[in-house]
Amino acid sequence: MSLTDCLYQTNALARLERAARAGRIPHSMIFHGPQGVGKSTVARQWAKLMCCAQPITRDWPKDQDPHNSDLAEIHDCCDQCSDCHLADTGAHPDIHIVNRESAQYAKQQRKTQLINLPIDVIREFVIEPSTLRPTRGRARVFIVEEAETMNRASQNALLKTLEEPPPNTFIILITDKVDMFLPTIRSRCQLVRFNTLPYDFVAQKLQQHNCPADQAQYWARFCQGQLGPALALAQSDIYAVKCQFVEKLTQLDLPTLLLTAQWIIDTAKKHGEALLKTNPLATTGQTTRIAQAFFLQVAAETFRAVLRLHTGQADLLDQPQLIQCLTQKFSPKAAAAAIDATAHAQRLIDANVNATLIFESLMLDYLDAAAGIYATAG
Ligand SMILES: [Zn+2]
Repeated sequence: MSLTDCLYQTNALARLERAARAGRIPHSMIFHGPQGVGKSTVARQWAKLMCCAQPITRDWPKDQDPHNSDLAEIHDCCDQCSDCHLADTGAHPDIHIVNRESAQYAKQQRKTQLINLPIDVIREFVIEPSTLRPTRGRARVFIVEEAETMNRASQNALLKTLEEPPPNTFIILITDKVDMFLPTIRSRCQLVRFNTLPYDFVAQKLQQHNCPADQAQYWARFCQGQLGPALALAQSDIYAVKCQFVEKLTQLDLPTLLLTAQWIIDTAKKHGEALLKTNPLATTGQTTRIAQAFFLQVAAETFRAVLRLHTGQADLLDQPQLIQCLTQKFSPKAAAAAIDATAHAQRLIDANVNATLIFESLMLDYLDAAAGIYATAG
């Protein structure tokens, strides 16, 4: 794999390429943008290029990019030399991937799993090794994943290294929450922005992972072009749960309201437990909230589909008969009110409000909206 294999991130690649051509490769960068769109992949390929023994140029991927037509070629790693091979196996001594899991290998032993990247981990795995010469002579690259999880002390400790990195040392901070960095971190780094991916491309990738075509289209749209999260959903068994939930929304009435709210809470709890198994660094509270948020996303996406159908966009509907049924109950104004109520519920989940209260109120809001009563969410 090489940089040109990182598809549909040509704005980010163009920015890196222009810096390289000007002989001003930034030593400190922040790769930011939505989750699961290729930031880490590009960072790894960029690190490979910095360490490659025989860098080459390849044709600029014009087919993916109508905007950067001035670029005919892009510098890229050769993908053949021993440095490239070492990088691919994760064994290159000058490419350092640092994340919360690194804490498990830190000198300071820990019994609990980490929510933040603490200062001793940043010192041990970034600041101290950054002062050493590259082992293989070309460059030393540090990639800090989920870099927004560096706590304040870690961020402050890293400032000097970001400002004056040793020669041939490059630091890339990766995040989908760039606002969580201290302003002093942001001002010392070049920001490279990543975009969401085209839905069709995401759907195609999901199909390559054995996801049926209609589900692939649904998850691509649901995740708004974020391949990583879409792949995780496509590979789970949650599509059936999603279908069940949409069916419950079509049948929602006063007698079923409380049962539906309880079903969401119970199902979210189970889903949260499953998420915890695949993500041992998370807490039960976090995965439960992620699972609850999933139902809100499904609801919002369902009411967006209702709106699309009202405006004559009948293509790409998942469970089209049920959406049709909801379109009869929810006018465009009612669907918009339901989407607003869903967004309000998400804010309550973020604020740790009691789940029963949130989902019972939300189901009531949906019924009100369908009945033409539009409460303004406070
Ligand atoms: Zn190479």
